Amino acid sequence: MTETEAGGRAGVLFPPERVETARRATEDAAFDALLVTPGADLRYLTGYQALPLERLTCLVVPARAEPFLVVPELERPAAQASPAGRLGIEIVGFAETEDAYELVARRLPPGTRRFAVDNHMWAEKLLAFQDALPGAQPGLAGDVLSVLRMRKSAAEVAALRRAGAAIDRVHDAMGEWLRPGRTEREVARDIADAIVAAGHDHADFVIVGSGPNSASPHHEVSDRVIEPGDPVVVDIGGTTAEGYCSDSTRTYAVGEPPAAFLELYRVLLRAQTAQTEAVRPGVTAEELDAVGRDIITAAGHGEHFIHRTGHGIGLETHEEPYIVAGSKRPLEPGMAFSVEPGIYLPGTFGARIEDIAVCTETGGERLNLTGRDLVVLPG
Ligand code: ZN
Ligand code: ZN
Repeated sequence: MTETEAGGRAGVLFPPERVETARRATEDAAFDALLVTPGADLRYLTGYQALPLERLTCLVVPARAEPFLVVPELERPAAQASPAGRLGIEIVGFAETEDAYELVARRLPPGTRRFAVDNHMWAEKLLAFQDALPGAQPGLAGDVLSVLRMRKSAAEVAALRRAGAAIDRVHDAMGEWLRPGRTEREVARDIADAIVAAGHDHADFVIVGSGPNSASPHHEVSDRVIEPGDPVVVDIGGTTAEGYCSDSTRTYAVGEPPAAFLELYRVLLRAQTAQTEAVRPGVTAEELDAVGRDIITAAGHGEHFIHRTGHGIGLETHEEPYIVAGSKRPLEPGMAFSVEPGIYLPGTFGARIEDIAVCTETGGERLNLTGRDLVVLPG
């Protein structure tokens, strides 16, 4: 789907006013300029998916002057052809022997004292900016930009919905690959191919945790051979060509699992269902976390739910808002995040169920619609 097609239904994915919105936010945060190098922030603001390489590419947004995009001269055609070329902002090329950092410093308004850099700017680039702007104080732009990125537009929610449907297709076909006698690594390789075939540009991660490995939340894969009766946690995600990410976990059993596992899974399913149903504007991140944690704790597994409930998702798999105890951030319409409680019995087995949810005006919408009852595959 092209941007225009998506735009017809829900607005443009990368609307042109974001640079101006970021400029105002930069000024409000008392920065004199915002410097954004390739990554999710640059793509969010301009639609330009530039490769992060050694040469400088940087969107420069002075708080009180016109923005411009600095690119290596050899990448100017690519920048011009990207959505950034239609923003009406000046694209400034620099030659191979020119100092791009000096160029930025020269063009910044005099009196630039504080500048904000995107949180993922390479250290070598930040140090070069500090050299080029002696006396100016750098700060992180994360707080300025995450506030903008956290509330998704209708077009972004539509893009996340497409990503969610794509990863659902992979879970729905899990029985094709997940079988006893195969190693986690073999299964994961097939799943990675399926993630692309289902409509992603690339797979971001594939976790296949079988048997005791299911009790390790960030276990990736190993050469362990899957055995009959194993619970298997499969946590997978990819990025679509539009730039938006999917992330969904289902826990499977290959053959009949132990009765204690079935009991654990029932508790988890109740917690995760209650949490997805509790999503609505005004509920705080920590309240949503507690909805699931209280159920799991009451069942005697509080100490086995060892991570937060979820993370925001959009152009990155992990971004604000984090659904975690201690966060008094109220949910707002447009916020998209994972709801992924888990229960892990070290050395024995564990389970996790993960859906992406979006806060709407009146409640929540789940973007992953694969069934949540335990799927028992042939053992
Ligand atoms: Zn996940
Ligand atoms: Zn996740």
